[in-house]
Amino acid sequence: MRGHLVISLDYEIHWGVFDNKSVNEYRKNLENVNEVIDRLLELSDTYGIKLTFSTVGFLFAKNKTDLVNYLPTQKPTYTLNKLNPYDLIDSNGNNEYEDPFHYAYSKILKIKHNGNHEIGTHTFSHFYCHALGQTIEQFNEDINAAINIAQPLDIKISSIVFPKNQINPNDDIDKPYLKVCKKYGITSFRGKEKSFIYNIHSSKKYRNLFIFKAMKPLDAYFNITGTNTYNLKAINKNSIIFNIPSSRFLRPYNTKLKLFEGLKLRRIKKAMTYAAKHNEVYHLWWHPHNFGTNIDENFKNLETIFKTYQMLNKSHGFQSETMTSLTEKFNKTRTHD
Ligand SMILES: [Zn+2]
Repeated sequence: MRGHLVISLDYEIHWGVFDNKSVNEYRKNLENVNEVIDRLLELSDTYGIKLTFSTVGFLFAKNKTDLVNYLPTQKPTYTLNKLNPYDLIDSNGNNEYEDPFHYAYSKILKIKHNGNHEIGTHTFSHFYCHALGQTIEQFNEDINAAINIAQPLDIKISSIVFPKNQINPNDDIDKPYLKVCKKYGITSFRGKEKSFIYNIHSSKKYRNLFIFKAMKPLDAYFNITGTNTYNLKAINKNSIIFNIPSSRFLRPYNTKLKLFEGLKLRRIKKAMTYAAKHNEVYHLWWHPHNFGTNIDENFKNLETIFKTYQMLNKSHGFQSETMTSLTEKFNKTRTHD
């Protein structure tokens, strides 16, 4: 297999940040998500890039009644109640025209009709698999609802991105959460970066040490953890579902750090080049709302990345795939082995 570029977008609007920010506190970013999606589709089409929109199930609802019809009977019983999004539903507007922060029916259809991209799931309710108080049965119902609410739009969900990347297949020998995904026909997930600095939230020992907290942002600009590209065959020897780990979170344009934007892009371009030369995968991700401020600067950066892709596509046959199209491609080569 050649090298591949995978881009996944955690499409969630307010459902991904409600536990930390109200709509008003993050309004500009959230308000511009629709424009960001339109521009993402346009720019990707220009450069032949396939995107995976890992979408929160709530966003598929046409209106509030529609959403209520899909709600699971067992909702997550988080110890920390502020993580529970179900309490928000009552006070939300009725549909995407009244409330573009919590619904995206027509935008999801637009992505679908574009035909080049994938719509996967980011769980039904932005479910936190590491949070205290939730259970595997509740997760099971959540994923079931995510699959069901996509059906009327004729969308078959086959990939997942776990909210806050709260999945660590090494945590549990039995990997029950991945087994639930498999049961519902999900064939791939976005795993975490292999470097330990991306796992520190689950390790009490390091969690509060400033130096470890600072490493993640620093790694975006300076080479701390290496290229974070992957040989898919090597990491998927015993997978329950196909793991396409993250290589990098694309940090949004930062006005205060604008002098460092070049370093950030250089780091991404170098890693992509490494992936292309060594037939590995480079998996970039972010949230559309990250692009909601400094939109032009963010898209300028993205175009630089897409141009690098185009160049590597010509020189090394580097290819862009969605999570599912890459999984299918991989399975085909595996059966030929
Ligand atoms: Zn999220």
